[in-house]
Amino acid sequence: MNEAPQKYEVVIGLEVHARLSTKSKLFSSDANSYGAAPNENVGVITLAHPGTLPKTNKKAIEYAVMMGIACNCTINQKNYFARKHYFYPDLPKGFQTSQHTVPICGNGYVTIKTSNGERNIRLDHIHLEEDAGKSIHDMDDNYSFIDLNRAGTPLIEIVTEPDMHSAEEAGLFVTELRKLVRWINICDGNMEEGSMRCDANVSLRLKGETKLGTKVEVKNLNSIRNVRKAIEFEIERMIDLLEKGERIYQQTRSFDAGNDTTFAIREKEEANDYRYFPEPDLPPLNLSDDYLNSIKNSLPALPQQLLKKYQSEFGLNEYDASQLTLDKEIADYFESVIQHTKNYKAVANWINGPIKQLINDSPVSINEIPANKLAEIIAIVDKDEVSFSNASSKLLPAIIKDNSIRIEHLATQLNIVQTKNTDELKEWVTIVLNKMPDKVLEYKKGKKGLMGLFVGEVKKLSKGKADLKTVTQLLEQELN
Ligand code: ADP
Ligand code: MG
Repeated sequence: MNEAPQKYEVVIGLEVHARLSTKSKLFSSDANSYGAAPNENVGVITLAHPGTLPKTNKKAIEYAVMMGIACNCTINQKNYFARKHYFYPDLPKGFQTSQHTVPICGNGYVTIKTSNGERNIRLDHIHLEEDAGKSIHDMDDNYSFIDLNRAGTPLIEIVTEPDMHSAEEAGLFVTELRKLVRWINICDGNMEEGSMRCDANVSLRLKGETKLGTKVEVKNLNSIRNVRKAIEFEIERMIDLLEKGERIYQQTRSFDAGNDTTFAIREKEEANDYRYFPEPDLPPLNLSDDYLNSIKNSLPALPQQLLKKYQSEFGLNEYDASQLTLDKEIADYFESVIQHTKNYKAVANWINGPIKQLINDSPVSINEIPANKLAEIIAIVDKDEVSFSNASSKLLPAIIKDNSIRIEHLATQLNIVQTKNTDELKEWVTIVLNKMPDKVLEYKKGKKGLMGLFVGEVKKLSKGKADLKTVTQLLEQELN
């Protein structure tokens, strides 16, 4: 076994760009939409015509603040935009309007759940910036095309401290971040459409070493899988280099999803000189306490808070609670069902079981299942009037989009009301016991575990209509 990997500690810091789902761009009224025809969303500001002036999109500020609060950041009430200069054909102004010295949010952390328990990944900051356009090189042999629809669209960049130590942790972090932006509804999180992109900075150092090693940065990873794969490849590549006695150069690399490898795109021996300076055409932002409070108060309960609440207040286990907080739609649905029933565990079981299955297997969405009716189904099962299996296979599909349907009525109609009629039950019990005399003998000799089999057979024979508590009592009478 190669022992080299055990010598090293992997260190990872991520920079994640998330496109804010505002209607218009960060500094102009051009539409911020994905999938429009090329250069459709392009006005004079996007084109950087002389004499045009930018104007800051209020919604984008609000979204950045929301994310800062959701990530436990301090909000820098006084912050400002800065020009970041670099030449790029799809950046018409010749500079990108970004933030530098004072970004909108500082510090903060995001909690991830690893196989070794919870960990807080610290954030260095979150800043606002505009995106660049897109150069297209593969449509013509002689020309490159430029689509400026994306130029000027609002991004937040979330920059972590170098706090992650495996590809798995990096994947979990991006997953959690995607869940958060969707939860507070500031970004659709569709990585395949570029709404979220991740740059991974990776370095190695000997275990016990406190100084950071030389890092490489893998740019523009557009899926969680690719984040993991790129980091895994980099770790192996760098261990190989170090073991061969070679040195690691600071590089910017790109990921080739075709074979899960990375390749160098530029050496980065010294820092780029972006000649940052405060944007003179935009007033600095000055966010008041009232403004911050109103945003804080409008934020929905966050997944971490609900996760704790569902366990401590509702007595759910960690698995149930985490399933219910996978996305906001599910959590909202849970919240609306518990307006009608206090059997929290049953609601969790229904949502994480038959409802999840129904949604996966059919074009039904969770909101088409009336919360009040689900609560009635739970009640009828609790009263032992309908079995759980009949309730989930027959009642559940019947209530979709119908919140006036009468559950008791429906159960009668479907002929699934459980019978407590002892005569009828006795008949079933007798049939079952007569069918398996050898099992009865085994039971009488002490194999008490067979009770489950007998009950199951009666349940089958009755098509789920037998009240199983009574059946068990009858079987016990009969057998003892
Ligand atoms: P740069 O100036 O090269 O952009 P920054 O210091 O701004 O570097 O950090 C960018 C990202 O890289 C951050 O997420 C940070 O945590 C991470 N990072 C910085 N140094 C290292 C390192 N040696 N190993 C891994 N990640 C690093
Ligand atoms: Mg940087």
